[in-house]
Amino acid sequence: REQDVKILLLENVNKTGQDILRQQGYQVEALKSSLPEDQLIEKIKDVHVLGIRSKTKLNARVLSAAKNLIVVGCFCIGTNQVDLKYAADHGICVFNSPFSNSRSVAELVIAEIISLARQLGDRSNEMHAGTWNKVSSKCWEVRGKTLGIVGYGHIGSQLSVLAESFGMRVIYYDVTNLMALGTAHQVSSLDELLKTADFVTLHVPEIPETKNMISEKQFENMKTGSYLINASRGSVVDIPALIEASRSGKIAGAALDVYPSEPAGNGDYFNNELNSWCEGLRGLKNIILTPHIGGSTEEAQSAIGIEVAESLVRYVNEGVTVGAVNMPEVTLRSLTMDEADHARVVFIHQNVPGVLGRVNKVLSDHNVDKQMSDSRGDMAYMMADISNVRQGEIETLYKDLESLKERIITRILY
Ligand code: NAD
Repeated sequence: REQDVKILLLENVNKTGQDILRQQGYQVEALKSSLPEDQLIEKIKDVHVLGIRSKTKLNARVLSAAKNLIVVGCFCIGTNQVDLKYAADHGICVFNSPFSNSRSVAELVIAEIISLARQLGDRSNEMHAGTWNKVSSKCWEVRGKTLGIVGYGHIGSQLSVLAESFGMRVIYYDVTNLMALGTAHQVSSLDELLKTADFVTLHVPEIPETKNMISEKQFENMKTGSYLINASRGSVVDIPALIEASRSGKIAGAALDVYPSEPAGNGDYFNNELNSWCEGLRGLKNIILTPHIGGSTEEAQSAIGIEVAESLVRYVNEGVTVGAVNMPEVTLRSLTMDEADHARVVFIHQNVPGVLGRVNKVLSDHNVDKQMSDSRGDMAYMMADISNVRQGEIETLYKDLESLKERIITRILY
C-alpha cells in the first residue's frame, strides 16, 4: 500500500520531486542536508526509497544497512557517489537525471558564442580593472558564421536549433548517423568539421575514444581565428595544446566550463596543486572560464526533481526500470489495476543458467500474459504480468519465488 512506502530524501531535493512523491500517498521525510555516515546508516534501516544528490556517499557499508531499500534516486546527473555494482547485486535500482539540463547547457553555449565573437570576457575584465578599451577589430557578428557541433545528442541538437534561429550555419559530426534538425547538415569526419567551422563546440560523452579528442593535430586543422567551446567533459580537450593554440593565435578564443580535474566544493581552484598545470590558462586573451555551470539553473533543478521522482514512482508502483543506471531496462505495458485476478511479478535474481526455467515453473499454475527479462552482468531482472491468481495464492507464489536460491528480491505488485 502507498502509505506503507517509506521515503527519505536528503540534501534538499527540489520541491517538484517532493510533491510528486507526496501526491502518491507515500510517507516522505525530507531533510535539508546530507547526514554523516553513522547517522545515515541508522536513518535508512527501514526506508524503501532513498533520494540523494551528490554529497551523500552510498558505499557498500551504508547500503548494507538499508534492509528494505529497493530504489535510490540521484536527483542530479552524476552517480559516482553510489556503489552501483553493490546496489545492483543487492537488487537496489538506481536512477538519475542525465538530460534534464540539456537546454541550460545549450543556452550557455549560445551566450559563449557571442561573448567570444565580441571578446566580452576581456572587455568586462578591463572595465572591472578601470580601463576603457573600445575595440572593433577582430570582433564579429555571428550571423552567417558556421557552428561546428561535435556530438549531436541531447545538447548538441538543442544547440543546433537555437544557433540557426539567429542566422548561423550549422554542421555537426557524430559517430552515429543522425537526422539533422532545421537545415543543419552532418559531415563525415571531425577533420572536415574543424576545417570548416568558425566555432567548434564539443558535446560528446566522456569515454576512452573522446579523451584528448581535441589536441595538437586538431588545433592545426582548425581555421585560423576560429573559436573552441568545451562544456562537455574536461578530458576531451588537451589543455597544454589549447594553451599553445591560443598563444600562437591559431584560435581567437575559447570557453571552458569543464576541466580535467574539478574540485568537490567551491573555493580556491588554480592554487590547488591538482590544477596548477592548468594555470597557463589564466591571463590568456579571450578565454572564458566558468566553473562547470552549464546545467546549473533553477529550471534544470526543477526538471531534475520531476524526472527522478517520476522514475521512482514508476519503479515503486510498476517495477519499470527504464532509465536505470545499474540495471537492465525492463518494462511492460501498464497493469490493469482493476482486474482482481491480475498480478505483476518482479523477480530480481542472479544471472545464472537455468533460473528462468525454475521461475516459470513457479508461474506455470497461472496464465502468464506478458513477460520480459533482461540481464546486466551478474544480475538479471524478470517482470511478468499474470492472471488467474486468487488472493490466497499470492503469498504462496511469493514464498515459492523467495525460496529459489538465485533470488535477490521478489516483489509482487497488484
Ligand atoms: P548525449 O549522450 O545525448 O549525446 C552525445 C552524442 O555524442 C551522441 O549523439 C553520441 O553519438 C556522440 N558521440 C559519442 N562519441 C562520439 C565521438 N567519438 N565522436 C563524435 N560524436 C560522438 O549527451 P548530452 O546529454 O548531449 O551531453 C553531452 C556532454 O555534455 C556529456 O559529456 C555530458 O557529460 C556533458 N554535460 C555537461 C554539462 C555541464 O554542466 N557543462 C551538463 C550536462 C551534460
